Amino acid sequence: MAVRRPSRLYLSPPSASASDRAAVLSALDSGWIAPLGPDVEALESALMALTRRRHAVALVSGTSALHLGLLALGVGPGANVLVPTLTFAASAFAVAYTGASPAFVDVEERSWGVDPELLHDVLRRRASAGRLPAAIITVDLFGRTCDYDTILPICAEYDVPVLADAAEAVGATHGATPAGGLGHASVLSFNGNKMVTTSGGGALLTDDSRIAEAVRHRATQSRLPAPWYEHDEIGFNYRLSNLLAALGRSQLARLPELVARRRQIRDRYASGLADLPGVSVGGDPPWGRSNAWLTTVRFSGDLHPGAPERVRLALEEANIESRPVWKPMHQQPVFAQAESHLRGVADRIFAEGLCLPSGSGMSDEDVDVVVGIVRETISE
Ligand SMILES: *Cc1c(COP(=O)(O)O)cnc(C)c1O
Repeated sequence: MAVRRPSRLYLSPPSASASDRAAVLSALDSGWIAPLGPDVEALESALMALTRRRHAVALVSGTSALHLGLLALGVGPGANVLVPTLTFAASAFAVAYTGASPAFVDVEERSWGVDPELLHDVLRRRASAGRLPAAIITVDLFGRTCDYDTILPICAEYDVPVLADAAEAVGATHGATPAGGLGHASVLSFNGNKMVTTSGGGALLTDDSRIAEAVRHRATQSRLPAPWYEHDEIGFNYRLSNLLAALGRSQLARLPELVARRRQIRDRYASGLADLPGVSVGGDPPWGRSNAWLTTVRFSGDLHPGAPERVRLALEEANIESRPVWKPMHQQPVFAQAESHLRGVADRIFAEGLCLPSGSGMSDEDVDVVVGIVRETISE
C-alpha cells in the first residue's frame, strides 16, 4: 500500500514561473489591462511563428475558437459536421452552438485520431446520397497529431473543409509541420490544464485571410468602424485580454522546456511499465512528435480486466489524481440521438485507458511512486 501524499498530485496543473509573474505584472503596470493591447498582438505573432501560419487570432478559449472557426467555414443551422467520437466535448459542443449537428466517427489505434479509412467510407456514402458534411473537425488527442497525410487528401477529394482541433497539441509536430499548422483553420487552447496556459484562452490559426478576418470581426461583437457602435451581424465577446496575452507570451517562451519535461515524464512511465504484458504507454505517432500533454496508459481488457478503475482508485488513496480517457461522444447522454459511425475502437480505448499525472512540475520520484502503484495494483 502506498503512503498517502500530504499534497495532492494533480493530473496536469499549470506551471507558473518567475518570468510568468513578471510578464503579468509588467502588462498591469503598462496600463494595457484590457481589452486589447500590445501583448495580444505580440502573442498572435508568436503563435504565427510557432505554427507557421499567416494569421492568428487570440481568443478567450479554445471552445470560442472552434465556434468562430466553424462559423467562418460557413457552418450554420441544419448543417452537419463530422467529429471524432473520442474527444473532449467542446469539439462537439461548438458544432451545436452554430445550430448544426455533429455526426461522430470512430478513431484509429495509432494516434487515437479519426480513422481515415472509415472517414473515407462515410464521405463516399454521404457524397452519393448528396449529403456531404459542411466541415470536419479533426482532433489531435492527448498531444498526438492525427493522420493528416491520409485525412487531408480525402477531405480535399470531397471538398470538405477541415478545422483542426489542436487544443491539446501545442508544441507537437506532424512531420516538419507544427501542430496547429494544418487544415483550413486550427484551434489551440491555453486553458489552465493545457500545455501552456493563459489561465483561460485559445487561438484560431489559418493561412486564409478571409477566415481570419471573419473570426476577428465576430470575436469583437461584429463592430464596424464607425464613431457609434455599428454591427452587421451577430457578434461575440471572445477576444483575449491583454493581461492574459502577456502570460501567454511568457508561457510560450517556455514551451520547449515544458514539452521536453512532459516527454521525459512519459518516457519514464514507459520504461517503468515496459516489462508488464498487456500494459502500454501511449508514445509518438509514426508521423510526428507528441507534446506528451497527458501520458496515457492502456491495460489490455483480456489480461487486466477492470484495471483502469482499480488503478485510479489506488492512486486516489495515495492522493494522486488520474482520469479515464475522454468518454466517447456517442456514449454521452447529450448526444444519444446523434448519427455515429463506429468500429468499437473508441469504446475499447475508453474501457482500457487511463490518463496519468503528467504536469511538467512533477519530479522523477513522483513518477516512480505512480509507477509503483500501477505495478502493485495490476499484480494483485
Ligand atoms: C481543452 C479542449 C478544448 C477546449 O479548449 P478550452 O480552452 O478549454 O475552451 C477543445 N478541444 C479539445 C480536444 C480540448 O482538449
